[in-house]
Amino acid sequence: MSEQNTDKCVRVEVSDGVATLIWDMPGRAQNVFNRASITDFDAALDAVLADEAVTGIIVTSAKKDFIAGADLESVKQMALGPKDPVALNESVGALTNVLRKLEVGGKPVVAAINGTAMGGGLELALACHHRIATDESRVKLGLPEVSLGLLPGAGGTQRLPRMIGVKPSLPWLMEGKRFGTQESLAMGVVDAVVPAEGLLDAARAWLATGPAAERAWDKNRGRGFVVPGGGIEEKQTSQMLMVGTAMLMDKTHGNFPAPLAIMSCVAEGLRVSLDEGLQIEKRYFISLLLDPRSGAMVNTLFLSMQKVGKLAGRPAGVDKLVPTKIGVIGAGLMGAGIAYSTAKSGIDVVLLDLDQARADTGKAYSASRLAKSVKKGRRTQAQMDAVLARITPTADYADLDGCELIVEAVFENRDIKATVTRSIEAAVSGAAIVGSNTSTLPITGLAQASSRPANFIGLHFFSPVERMPLVEIITGEQTSAETLAKSMDYVQAIGKTPIVCKDSRGFYTSRVFGTYVTEGVSLLTEGVVPALIENAGKATGMPMPPLALADAVGLKLMYSVGLATKADLGDAAPDNPSQPVLEELVAKQDRHGKSNDKGFYDYEGRSKRLWSGLSELYPPAAAQPDVETVKRRLLYVQALEACRVYEQGLVATPAEVDVGAILGWGFAAWSGGPLSLIDQIGAAEFVARCEVLAAAHGERFAPTDGLRKMAASGARFYSI
Ligand code: NAD
Repeated sequence: MSEQNTDKCVRVEVSDGVATLIWDMPGRAQNVFNRASITDFDAALDAVLADEAVTGIIVTSAKKDFIAGADLESVKQMALGPKDPVALNESVGALTNVLRKLEVGGKPVVAAINGTAMGGGLELALACHHRIATDESRVKLGLPEVSLGLLPGAGGTQRLPRMIGVKPSLPWLMEGKRFGTQESLAMGVVDAVVPAEGLLDAARAWLATGPAAERAWDKNRGRGFVVPGGGIEEKQTSQMLMVGTAMLMDKTHGNFPAPLAIMSCVAEGLRVSLDEGLQIEKRYFISLLLDPRSGAMVNTLFLSMQKVGKLAGRPAGVDKLVPTKIGVIGAGLMGAGIAYSTAKSGIDVVLLDLDQARADTGKAYSASRLAKSVKKGRRTQAQMDAVLARITPTADYADLDGCELIVEAVFENRDIKATVTRSIEAAVSGAAIVGSNTSTLPITGLAQASSRPANFIGLHFFSPVERMPLVEIITGEQTSAETLAKSMDYVQAIGKTPIVCKDSRGFYTSRVFGTYVTEGVSLLTEGVVPALIENAGKATGMPMPPLALADAVGLKLMYSVGLATKADLGDAAPDNPSQPVLEELVAKQDRHGKSNDKGFYDYEGRSKRLWSGLSELYPPAAAQPDVETVKRRLLYVQALEACRVYEQGLVATPAEVDVGAILGWGFAAWSGGPLSLIDQIGAAEFVARCEVLAAAHGERFAPTDGLRKMAASGARFYSI
């Protein structure tokens, strides 16, 4: 057996005519693609292809996972680096070329997939002549590029459909779905699944059968090759792609460049040879790298998400809280969800309500969710029982003894919350943290009821709790750094992402989200036809158009929040053009929104249509704005408010502002978030556009001082 180049990213071991290329990047937990590793792999491959003693090749990894995608530095370059098409044309494609060399090198190559293979890692395996994976359930295969606005650019869009057919490849390519190895086997993405300890033996055994080193699409120069299930010219496939493109446009309004580019790669690339297909893929990949939307998505959905998820803003020097027992007061909609999410994460929960029956009802919510997941085969009955056993429903505060943190989720009422805070503090140790899930009440005010305001904080969950990934943490004036750090630990421990906001009216998410709905209502009062408002809203990429969203939130709730704000702030309350409309609909027309089937829409079962009475109350103006202007108003009003929150120092980093917007209220993901949107447009252009809007529609569109400075200096929120 010979062994060489130990300080390289890829080790080579040759034994009995079989060369094993072992990915094992020094000093890293994971193998990734970067210039060094691609160069090392290329050199190792050259050596074994040239070695006459080598008759077969195994590619595997010495890490827990096989190979992940690109390394962080390359990802940063993709997101924020210079966008020079000529330079990109030269730099993109290095991995594609190495993989093609491997494929046509004349020696059979088998991928021994010992762990998760994502993105480029899976593309490497796809370029091999055979794939064997371990049967461990932790191992996942996938091409997640599309979710970051990119495409698998190392042959993935070409080889996968040629291997398994166009239709079966679409969930991998277009949705970025991940699959276990058994599922991958069933789909033909891997050829065999074996126990981990037998992986390399299975690879050697396959090589011992003397397999051909030629892919079906390369035989006879591709003549006679047929894509499984029929090629692109086949009627069903071409119809599927045609309809698929239309459906995609309907769903995304053309906001996301990657899925369209992927469809084009498949539709165009499968008509030609693999080599030409790879060139087509390269061109579309570069077009995405040049598209600012893709850069923004990579930046927010990958880089910022990672930073925020790893608690980059956590105060230093505080011991990590590993929560073991959490209290939840109020077993209603939110409390039941918080208890479920916490227990699912392996933490004991005391769920307290006014009486035992209400507490039991709150626990029953977990039981019903868990039963569904058992029915779907996602959990066993034993796992369900274990989660349920962690939740203790009670009406007795004494049961809270030993809780490290207690989340209060009772009615949105200051006096009730104050009583509850005092009862909690009487029952737990002085070190315990009390977190209020209030959606509107300032935390500093609520903390007045606390005898330990340093331990008091806001923990704003979103509904439905178990599905919503964000928690907005609000620090009151007296909240300590330790309380903040430990609250962040708790949020992370239950698998959610925390952003931190200083105490202020509406905190961050509700404040900015509110501007979207309010702008929709403003447009209505100006005589813009509701269908235009709603269609423009959909076209921005927001999950719901503004008037439908107002109905879903509840017109009555919005109206009463508006009244409360006015009562609290008097003349200092911000101008709210939606309030008179809400007053008309709620107080005069008895239209409360979705809750009573009457709002901006009339609801009947699952269908809804805009209420015809709107045109009498708000007659359409003779001249209607163009859809682009309406879209701009709906997005820019949010971007400006988010910018104000950032400039006021309420949220500390652009990363938290953008991640919070996308995870919290579904701000148009293609933009990368409100601040990324401004970066995409460029501060100078954004300021100029806002000035036009401010002159026509009011001060809410006035650019901030910070933006004017950025416009003058050319600064951005994000740079490399
Ligand atoms: P809910 O009415 O569904 O539940 C409130 C629960 O608190 C009820 O079960 C009630 O019996 C219980 N409760 C009331 N007084 C109590 C007391 N003194 N002691 C113990 N339990 C008591 O309300 P919800 O929608 O779950 O909202 C709870 C809190 O979460 C509110 O502050 C609300 O503003 C906030 N919030 C709600 C949402 C949402 O979408 N519903 C989102 C974020 C935050």
